[in-house]
Amino acid sequence: MVEARGLKEPKVRIIMLRGRMEPQINYFLMEKVSKEKIEAGLEVLQALKDSKLITQLNSCVHCGLCADTCLYYLTTGDERLIPARKVDIVASIYKRYCTFTGKIAPKLVNARDLDDETIREMVDLLYGACTMCGRCVKHCSIGVDIEYVIRAGREMLARMDYVPASLQATVNSALESGNNMAISDEDFLDTIEWMEEEMQDELDDTNASIPINQPGKDVLYTLNPREPKFFPLSIAAMAKVFHAAGESWTLSTNMYDVTNYAYFSGNPDHGRVIAQRMFDEMSKMEAKKLVLAECGHGIRANRWEGPNYIGEKFPETITSVELIADYIKGGRIKTDKNKTEAIVTLHDPCNLVRSGGIVNEQRYILNHTVKNFVEMTPHGTDNFCCGGGGGQLAMSEYNERRLKIAEIKAEQIRKTGAKIVATPCHNCVDQLSQINVTYKLNVQIKTIAEIVADALVF
Ligand code: SF4
Ligand code: SF4
Repeated sequence: MVEARGLKEPKVRIIMLRGRMEPQINYFLMEKVSKEKIEAGLEVLQALKDSKLITQLNSCVHCGLCADTCLYYLTTGDERLIPARKVDIVASIYKRYCTFTGKIAPKLVNARDLDDETIREMVDLLYGACTMCGRCVKHCSIGVDIEYVIRAGREMLARMDYVPASLQATVNSALESGNNMAISDEDFLDTIEWMEEEMQDELDDTNASIPINQPGKDVLYTLNPREPKFFPLSIAAMAKVFHAAGESWTLSTNMYDVTNYAYFSGNPDHGRVIAQRMFDEMSKMEAKKLVLAECGHGIRANRWEGPNYIGEKFPETITSVELIADYIKGGRIKTDKNKTEAIVTLHDPCNLVRSGGIVNEQRYILNHTVKNFVEMTPHGTDNFCCGGGGGQLAMSEYNERRLKIAEIKAEQIRKTGAKIVATPCHNCVDQLSQINVTYKLNVQIKTIAEIVADALVF
């Protein structure tokens, strides 16, 4: 079992960048890459809109400090999976096609052709060996935005049509049906109706409702499709919180999906279509603010990347975690922390915390809703990814690797002695649930809304 290292003493190692290694998974790319595809991929590097990518591609000093920050390297010891190597593979193509020396003497500067072998390695490293957690970025000795380079590499692959089919299928479902699990309106409405009845029975209050398609409300709320599909009780939990707060809110059947898996596939055109839908729904529903459900990448893709995708400012957009913290601070809901006595720990989703800056709200909530809250080590912006980010949960071909890198998270949880793991991200809930079984942790995994619903005092 790997010790979860908190980077007290990061090791400096010189990373040798010459030589190629075989990808572990060679499932992909049966056909020879065409000239047209190569040109489409190179456009990402050749049609640079700003200097940021060029700067990142020219900056790595190969000190190796990022190695001990990445859960892939820490759990496998495979030097091929060090973050700097993921930067290097994109940088080597840039050198080959966009620099004078790389064009005339590629071997001198470790420049590589964008050929079948390189593409296979790119797919394996950039999709299959990165959760886009950003932990390496935080610890890079000179601040290389490694995650940004990996995104650029994924965009190249997306333009060449080499997104792993499993991940692309998730994006296609969202594009075609309006949600990434292709849930029909009929099934969605049935589930909502069922949850409303359950809530009314539990609270013995026929006024407790889950409003649907009601324009002019203060809040347009969103969901992760895994809620209506597999975990409807988490919808009921948030509905209870809204009811307790007396919130004016609604869901929309037309667009409730908070996720945007095109952020992970790397296709900006698909990302734009999905982000635009959310923006348009806000206008149509005339809601005062958009409240994003507990979903790390969905929050990032809407709140921070949404305006970049569509080139327009989003209306007021906040997370349900911030909203709940405000309810407690303002006395709009009352909670009794003694209702949960078991030890509770918190997993910080990378996109919400390290990349999204929402660190304190979930801690404030837990300190008001459970009696024994303990932190993991490390936590907050230095926390380790659960291993399910970056689209990993959608790419079943990497399942074995995904559960291997989860050794670190399993050990972090075990050391807290917690019986409940709370996390404000449905994607993390999925991965943590699988970690729970694989590593026999015997814990319960809950969202923040579920924890709060359990503590509510009406
Ligand atoms: S973003 Fe995370 S998973 Fe990807 S290389 Fe960096 S530390 Fe590793
Ligand atoms: S990416 Fe940063 S930390 Fe990693 S080897 Fe390069 S300079 Fe060093």
